[in-house]
Amino acid sequence: MKVRTRYAPSPTGFMHVGNLRTALYEYLIAKNQGGSFVLRIEDTDQERLVEGAVDVIYNTLKVAGLKHDEGPDIGGDFGPYVQSERKDMYLPFAEQLIKEGKAYRCFCTKERLESIQQDSEFGGYDRHCRDLSQEEIDKLLAEGVPYVIRQKMPLEGSTTFVDAVFGEITVENSELQDQILIKSDGFPTYNFANVIDDHTMGITHVVRGCEYLSSTPKYNLLYDAFGWEIPTYVHLPLIMGKDAEGNVSKLSKRHGSTGFEDLIKEGYLPQVIINYIALLGWCPKGNEEIFSLSELEKEFCVENISKSPAVFDYQKLQWFNAEYLRAMSDEEFTEIAKPYYDSVFGDTPYDGSKLTAILKARTTKLTDIPDMIKFFKELPDYDKELFVNKKSKTNLENSPAILKTVTERLEALSDWSCDAIKELLINLATELELKNGTVMWPARIAASGQTVTPGGAVEILDILGKDETLRRLYIGLEKLS
Ligand code: GLU
Repeated sequence: MKVRTRYAPSPTGFMHVGNLRTALYEYLIAKNQGGSFVLRIEDTDQERLVEGAVDVIYNTLKVAGLKHDEGPDIGGDFGPYVQSERKDMYLPFAEQLIKEGKAYRCFCTKERLESIQQDSEFGGYDRHCRDLSQEEIDKLLAEGVPYVIRQKMPLEGSTTFVDAVFGEITVENSELQDQILIKSDGFPTYNFANVIDDHTMGITHVVRGCEYLSSTPKYNLLYDAFGWEIPTYVHLPLIMGKDAEGNVSKLSKRHGSTGFEDLIKEGYLPQVIINYIALLGWCPKGNEEIFSLSELEKEFCVENISKSPAVFDYQKLQWFNAEYLRAMSDEEFTEIAKPYYDSVFGDTPYDGSKLTAILKARTTKLTDIPDMIKFFKELPDYDKELFVNKKSKTNLENSPAILKTVTERLEALSDWSCDAIKELLINLATELELKNGTVMWPARIAASGQTVTPGGAVEILDILGKDETLRRLYIGLEKLS
């Protein structure tokens, strides 16, 4: 049988990394088996809908590269793919169950339901309407009394199912309520629509968060009632976050960004987020951790999904990001870094490839770039104490003379290139019988106004250009005098 998975988000807000992981695993399980990945929008709970949330879903799948084979925007043989457009499909299924004696109409009023709620003996609905006589039912129908349709849950025994990740799970049927399938307005409940859709769309694997594990027996009793084959269930482990004290709890905003779009805004690459969340609950066979999406399609297998909670580690995500950035070609890096370069330089011309040469191996997040390079645009105000550096053997006594000579020599340099600047500074160090660092340090401090810079003195001077370099070196000399 052809594998068919579905990602069935309810458009109730932003795309949490947990939702994206579900989508990714659905996608990978389908692609790994040459199957189809279906997108279905579950908008049955109209009150919970959030405007714009559907666009977020489309955009996220697109940016993440999780291309669906069927869905509201591209159609397919099992449409419509939005629950609200399927609304007429559900009632006949519920009526079929009534006919077969597996469901019943419940005419209980809200007031009655509320009063039994308070009566702890039932812990829910007391099945008052389950055994109404046909006469009573006909009378209530004739009077136009509103009703819901409930499933007759078995009163005895237990329901067992095997989840591909969590293993065998059994619940006592006595714990299950006679669940509502159709509400008094004729619309299905969320659970009912979900089962009807999965079956009528030919879904073979239901992949979702483990918060749905406890509802699954209810879903299965519906499959049983219809005599339908139960899909393979793949419930995914929780995603946790760790706070500063090392306490672990369900991943939330206080741990860091939890939305896909927010992580992108923070400077993480889409392919990094995908690679990282693939590992949140799934363990590859070997030691390799870096996987492109197409590699994941080949490697991924349900057997290696773990049921233990996964911890979202932002440090690890940064490590992945840095690795991906370093592995890029200079051209690629320059292209994705361009908006960040532009944000610093504005209309001032700059050479992106020179910036890339000093930044690519040092960048963890693209959003760190502006702070790393803003000294190129404007020399920060700095203290002359920065010229003092033990390792480079520079201090306030030797720095003025060294910087003065450096300035004079650079002034005379006609070919302004990395090679020429480097040669000049190294030759000068040899001539003065100093360590290279003793010559480079004052030049770098005067050129950048800071002790930590991407790139050394040579690269910085080259990027600044001759005029700007000299202007800054004179400022340094002034400070030191
Ligand atoms: N619509 C549900 C959600 O967004 C998905 C439930 C399922 O996958 O069965 O959480």
